[in-house]
Amino acid sequence: MPSCTHARIPPAASPEETQQRFEIRHQPKAQANPLRFPPTTAATPGSPMATAMSVSGVAPGAAAVARPRTLVCVPATARAPREMAAELAAAAALGADVAELRLDRLARFAPRRDLPVLLAEPRQLPALVTYRPKWEGGEYEGDDEPRFEALMLAMELGAEYVDIELKVADKFMKLVSGKKPENCKLIVSSHNFENTPSTEVLGNLVAQIQATGADIVKIVTTATEIVDVARMFQILVHCQEKKVPIIGLVMNDRGFISRILCPKYGGYLTFGSLEKGKESTPAQPTAADLINLYNIRQIGPNTKVFGIIGKPVGHSKSPILHNEAFRSVGFNAVYVPFLVDDLAKFLSAYSSPDFAGFSCTIPHKEAAVRCCDEVDPIARDIGAVNTIVRRPDGKLVGYNTDYVGAISAIEDGIRASAASQPTDLTTSPLAGRLFVVIGAGGAGKALAYGAKEKGARVVIANRTFARAQELANLIGGPALTLVDLENYHPEEGMILANTTAIGMHPNVNETPLSKQALKSYAVVFDAVYTPKETRLLREAAECGATVVSGLEMFIRQAMGQFEHFMGMPVNDDKFRGIANSLDNPTLTS
Ligand code: NAP
Repeated sequence: MPSCTHARIPPAASPEETQQRFEIRHQPKAQANPLRFPPTTAATPGSPMATAMSVSGVAPGAAAVARPRTLVCVPATARAPREMAAELAAAAALGADVAELRLDRLARFAPRRDLPVLLAEPRQLPALVTYRPKWEGGEYEGDDEPRFEALMLAMELGAEYVDIELKVADKFMKLVSGKKPENCKLIVSSHNFENTPSTEVLGNLVAQIQATGADIVKIVTTATEIVDVARMFQILVHCQEKKVPIIGLVMNDRGFISRILCPKYGGYLTFGSLEKGKESTPAQPTAADLINLYNIRQIGPNTKVFGIIGKPVGHSKSPILHNEAFRSVGFNAVYVPFLVDDLAKFLSAYSSPDFAGFSCTIPHKEAAVRCCDEVDPIARDIGAVNTIVRRPDGKLVGYNTDYVGAISAIEDGIRASAASQPTDLTTSPLAGRLFVVIGAGGAGKALAYGAKEKGARVVIANRTFARAQELANLIGGPALTLVDLENYHPEEGMILANTTAIGMHPNVNETPLSKQALKSYAVVFDAVYTPKETRLLREAAECGATVVSGLEMFIRQAMGQFEHFMGMPVNDDKFRGIANSLDNPTLTS
């Protein structure tokens, strides 16, 4: 286990104790709003939402209002009714709460023939029936009348929910007036495929939808940046306080967190696809991920939010690792991917104590040094922060766990390869060795700094030579170009550390150094760990070098992060067990 800069604390005895310890460490001075947003202004005068929106900001204690749990709804999008019926059964088997029948997806749909089959009793799941026209993002191209008739028939056949678009809601309401079965809830929906308007505009939209007589308000917008989602969360909180059921989601990959965190803010329902490739909208998570990975049933007002900030970030396996680790200690927290363009803007929008800690990856590690209120001296020296923790006073503190993770992995790899010789734990096996770092980014700086600290003589080689020189000057060693590196062979027994993304999935046939040049190295480490055995490591092993996988660094830096997040030590074996069970080798830190 890598050593951490904070004091070691004895392990907690139970999940309750884990939670209590965290609460004590992270208790905010005053109970703040779940999110800190700018105050909103009033919506349409006289409407229930107008009263809600006239409150400045989000009222304290809003998160504690009792409410039913957020439902997980699986959209059934098959082209044929029989396949759609099979999708309903599959959604039930996944543990979904509701299935959405997307009638507009059916080819040759005949309502009187197909709906009785699709809605036949007994149904395994409540049905939400949607017949989305093209002008609202669906596939139906005909007139409204036959569409309305099909939706009314679905109501008669016992559909639990029917969705109608705001633009035609009044017309539809007139038609169903007095005929809507009591057990059927009408969802009136509005989709914005361009952006997410201000909270004022969103508040007015809620009021407008309520005025149609909707049982459930549905607003779906589009994120152009992740901070847009904060406005939707604010609307959810207001609606929750006023007991207005609302589905509020933000589309595309920058809106992804809206789909996971809506239970925290009282969203009525969130959508999860049956499987990858069956999404009804881009960047929709699978229902299995919502339930099993993000533990959505456990997310509530008091759930702490952690996550990985990066760009790209969607393929990161850190959520699997950290969510499982939180679960294993019984801690009420969720870990999500944050696709962030502007780090400072993100940190200022999500500044509530509930957003308790972040991992930081490409390209934000260096900006994170500037964005934190305090930076651990080692992270400051390295010039890169990969872990941010929010302190009880709200201040952000930055750390670097890459450094300890990588260096301890290389040291242990060297010691293990010399297992037959007596192990000297007082001196680092890096001391006095020539240590060549390829790359001068966040990971390169961490490796260079760490190797230097351990007494190695560090050399930096980088594609952009000026950056190699800059880092080499800091470390006090020579700089090389990648071309120079091919013929660099001043001595035997050198150590090589690749810290560029060369060789990373999907470019698995690439390698930063020829096999011929690798013959000069006794130890080769690759920060890339997707795949676990990169071409560089395979060829280095063939040349007889001791190889150390980036996966080992990944596990160790993640353990260090988890300790910073929790303020308590991690069970090494348990964490390692979780990390090793990550089967798909497309990890990123
Ligand atoms: P970074 O700050 O963006 O730095 C990237 C470095 O790679 C730069 O020196 C860049 O050179 C170089 N580079 C990028 N593409 C290149 C190419 N095609 N040819 C030659 N050089 C290239 O990124 P980072 O945070 O240091 O991460 C770098 C790698 O380490 C990533 O693959 C990341 O997944 C991995 N990593 C692994 C772990 C782990 O736990 N195992 C932890 C952190 C990072 P220029 O200066 O010329 O742009």
